[in-house]
Amino acid sequence: MKAEAKITIVDFPEVVNIDEIRDEAPEVKTFYLSFLDPRLEAGFRIRSGQFIMCTVFGAGEFAVSLPPSPERDRLHITVRAVGKVTHALHRLRPGDKLGVRGPFGNGFPFEEIKGKNVIYVAGGIGLIPLRSSIIHVLQHREAFGRIILLYGARTSRDLLYREDIREWQKTPGFETFVAIDRAESGWDGEVGYVNTLIGKANVPVENTAAFVCGPPVMFNGVIAELLKRGMSEDDIVSTLERNMKCGYGKCQHCAIGRTLVCTDGPVYTYRQIKTLGEGI
Ligand SMILES: Cc1cc2nc3c(=O)[nH]c(=O)nc-3n(C[C@H](O)[C@H](O)[C@H](O)COP(=O)(O)OP(=O)(O)OC[C@H]3O[C@@H](n4cnc5c(N)ncnc54)[C@H](O)[C@@H]3O)c2cc1C
Repeated sequence: MKAEAKITIVDFPEVVNIDEIRDEAPEVKTFYLSFLDPRLEAGFRIRSGQFIMCTVFGAGEFAVSLPPSPERDRLHITVRAVGKVTHALHRLRPGDKLGVRGPFGNGFPFEEIKGKNVIYVAGGIGLIPLRSSIIHVLQHREAFGRIILLYGARTSRDLLYREDIREWQKTPGFETFVAIDRAESGWDGEVGYVNTLIGKANVPVENTAAFVCGPPVMFNGVIAELLKRGMSEDDIVSTLERNMKCGYGKCQHCAIGRTLVCTDGPVYTYRQIKTLGEGI
């Protein structure tokens, strides 16, 4: 069968339909999308870690992480309502339309980490970009060593992708630790900040890559703990979020020093992030 050409939608948004909307957590929803043009559906190939620019007509455009490849999964985005555009998105209903440009950005460095243990450390909505990487690594299980997820949220209501988490907890060879900040009735999982899970999970640091995403206070605590245990700055990977306009290196809105987050990133090693002199 002839392979479909890979399509990148650069300048003008292509229209997608909102097929379904699921509540994930307070202020966080997942939107399942399909292109009105079926040729785009087939050619729109994604690398885990990339993003799209999503237009909410009449409100504006914003950057959002991509799910695992829609070749095996429906195209969807998970979005927290924080400001003008994302609140406008949350007011939409199935059948409404959005615009999509992309995919943009570098994606996660899977070739470089082949043969290593992989640790995911996510806080709150930091699980959104990491989830597609987790799914990729589980699909290629034989190429990696230990696979560990440490995920923390403020309360049990704030945990995202609960269906996935239940499945991951049952997946052999995938060590999944989930914590909430304070004890709650009915919660029998871990309690405490996510960096405390690093000790509980006895995470390896030799021949190991760590993917870390979450709010700055969590990120800094986790990085400090991993470095204290001897992990190299080159083996810690994260994604930077900066306000973006074009998504493909023209407008410079997301420039930090000599790097453009939209084309050089959004995925960087901790050593690179440190060199940029910017926090997460
Ligand atoms: C590569 C990339 C991937 C992203 N993936 C996701 C995702 O999967 N899900 C998701 O919910 N969000 C994601 N974001 C963040 C999302 O783009 C912003 O939340 C969105 O632009 C906010 O738009 P708004 O008009 O609703 O808010 P605004 O009214 O523009 O801003 C509301 C508040 O959010 C801050 N803010 C706005 N944009 C950003 C930004 N890009 N980074 C950090 N703070 C910002 C503002 O300073 C302000 O405090 C991603 C951002 C980037 C760059």
